[in-house]
Parts: sequence; structure tokens; C-alpha cells
Amino acid sequence: MVTQEDSSRLEFQRTWGPRRSRSTTISSSSMRRPGATILALACTLPGCGRNFDGPRYKTSHTTITTSFEEPLCAGDLANIERHIEQVEQLLGTSLEKDIEIFLWSGLDAPRTPCPYGRDACFVRATNRVYSDFGSLEHELTHAVVEELGTPRPFFDEGVAVATEPRTLRFPEISPSSQIDLPRDEISYQAGGFFVRWLLETHGVDKWQSLHSGRGNRAAFQDIYGASFDGMTEEYLLSAPWVYAPLLKSPAPGLTENEEGWREIVTLDCSQEDTFGRLDRRSTLRRLEISESGFFDFWTTADGLSLRRLLGTNLTSESETRAALSGDVPLWDELSPAGSTKGIPGGAIQTVWLTTGEYEVAIIDIDRDDDEVVVTVLPHRGPVLFPPTNSDL
Ligand SMILES: [Zn+2]
Repeated sequence: MVTQEDSSRLEFQRTWGPRRSRSTTISSSSMRRPGATILALACTLPGCGRNFDGPRYKTSHTTITTSFEEPLCAGDLANIERHIEQVEQLLGTSLEKDIEIFLWSGLDAPRTPCPYGRDACFVRATNRVYSDFGSLEHELTHAVVEELGTPRPFFDEGVAVATEPRTLRFPEISPSSQIDLPRDEISYQAGGFFVRWLLETHGVDKWQSLHSGRGNRAAFQDIYGASFDGMTEEYLLSAPWVYAPLLKSPAPGLTENEEGWREIVTLDCSQEDTFGRLDRRSTLRRLEISESGFFDFWTTADGLSLRRLLGTNLTSESETRAALSGDVPLWDELSPAGSTKGIPGGAIQTVWLTTGEYEVAIIDIDRDDDEVVVTVLPHRGPVLFPPTNSDL
């Protein structure tokens, strides 16, 4: 959920603020940044980042120190605990020691002790997570599965990506080209998709054995009774096109009425449905569209951000194409990790939605609106199409 909200925030930056692509945040822990390597080497002590002097928070399993003064909301803290508990339950492991989280905004990465020039990581020696909002669940998963062991990076990063709160697209990269590579050369997305497939098709027990051991080709063959390359063949033939998020955190449905949807929404940082990001607060609602069509959105909030949700895996090209249709596709060229559509407050905006579920992020910039109205109505009458060349 943090990432979902984060993508909304990024969409708003895209629409009304400085440009920054979603994929930059998603892959921040995997990107090689030569310039940052020098900084990281100069900063080898955990916690030496100069900017982690914001407020501190305590949850059941973590303490959190931020690099920013603006408060986190109860929803942010609840998301952290929910992710830890869901990963523990799903993967049959448990967090042995409390985690210290050092969280920054995503706009200004402070110095961290993360290796390979990355700016987000889990440091095993100190049980510390350094992350922005976009990589937080990924790093928390590393911490939760740490007690099992540290297999080859392809599998170690794979399980962290597999539990990120987002859909996973089938990657073009074959696992066979990845298993022997060092951490700074692997494709995180290929690892995530393959580990998800292993979990779904061969179960958690075998995955646990894999993660507990060396996680190399020989160990793989012992555990799965098939060579890694043989299993890769099976994977390439049988994997789905898209995996729905593995861990669920459903938002409440937007209140329906006879004509459509209308709700007076309360934003309250002390409530677990409210999230804080620097100067913004937001909350999430779910919108189920049973029949494709144009819909009019209107809000007294500063803006909305729409995102398509996926409840089940997509196993065919036609299902995938359907999920990529409409004004709010599952992803697009600009946002391959998941796209969002921003709607500014105060004006009706007409949006073409195809059948499916959507998340509506309701956004309060400057944290100055405690109650806002959101309405969504099926559009009546024609819709003005953009002019064609012959009109100009
Ligand atoms: Zn990782």
C-alpha cells in the first residue's frame, strides 16, 4: 500500500510538480549509480546518513527514523506492520529481532551504508533497513526472511521483489542467464517473477529449502528434482502473463448511491486509512466498474489519482490486452511498473474506464483539508474527442 500511495504521489509530481518516473523509485535499490558509490564508501557506518534526524516512531516490530520533519500517518505505520506479518505468514518465517528503519522521502536520498552504490538496502549485521517509501516493502521482506539464510542473489532479490505490493509482468529475461550473476548484475524483475512462479507452482516448503541453502544449480536440482535449466523450460511455457500482487491490502469501496458514487471522506493522520508523504495526506478507496464506459470524476480534494487493481493473475494475451485498455491501463510505456492517472480537484474530468477494479487515491496537499467530497458518475451524452489533423 505504501508503494501504491507512493505511485499516486509520483503521478501528482508528474502532473503538477517536478518530473520523476515511477520506475526510478521502483528500481532504486537495484540501480547502479557510479556517483553514489563514492558517497556510500565514504559512509561505511550504519546510520551515518547526515539527514536521519527527523521524528522517530515505534511499531510492534520496528523503530522508524525519518529524514523529514513532516509526520508519518497511522496508515504508514500500519502498512509496515501488515507487510511484516503477511510475509511471515506467507513464507513461514518469523522476524527474530526488531528492525530499525531509516526512511527518507524519495526526493533526497541521504547517505546510507548500502553497498554497490544502492541507496536502499537491508543491512544484516545491524538489522537496519535504509529505504524510501517505494522500496520499503522490498527491504522489509529481506529482513523477515533473513533468518533462513542468504542464497544466490537471483533468489534473494527474487523473493523481495515477489512480495512487493504491485503486479509483476512476465520479464523477457530468462532465469538461466541470471542464476550465476552477482547481485549488481542480476535483473530483479526476472528474479521476482521466477520466485513467484516457484512459490505458486512448487510451494513454500521447497522455496524455504532453496532459500536456506546456497541457492545454486546443484542445490536447486536436489530440492526440486529437476535441473535449473529444465525447470526454466517449464517456466517459460507455463508462466502467466501477469501476476496480481501476492499480498493483499484492500481499501474500502467508495460509497455507492443510485446514480454512481459519492462520499464525504475524512483525512485524519491518526487513522489507519490515512497516509502521510511530506506535505501531503491521502487515503484510498476502491472503485469497481462492472461495465466499460466514460465516468465523470469530481472532488473538493486537491486531486485524485487512479490506478487499476488486479485481483487475479492474467493468464492469456486477451486478458492482458483488456487490462491495458482504457484511460487507466495496468501499465503504459512511460510507467512499465504500473501507471496512474492524476485528476486535479475542482473540475469535472471524464475518464474512460474498462471493466475492472480501480484504486482512487484522494490527495490533500498541504494537509489542510480534513473533509473532502468525491463523486464519480457515469458520463451522459457525447464526449469531445481530441481534434484530428483535418480539423486544424
Ligand atoms: Zn533487495
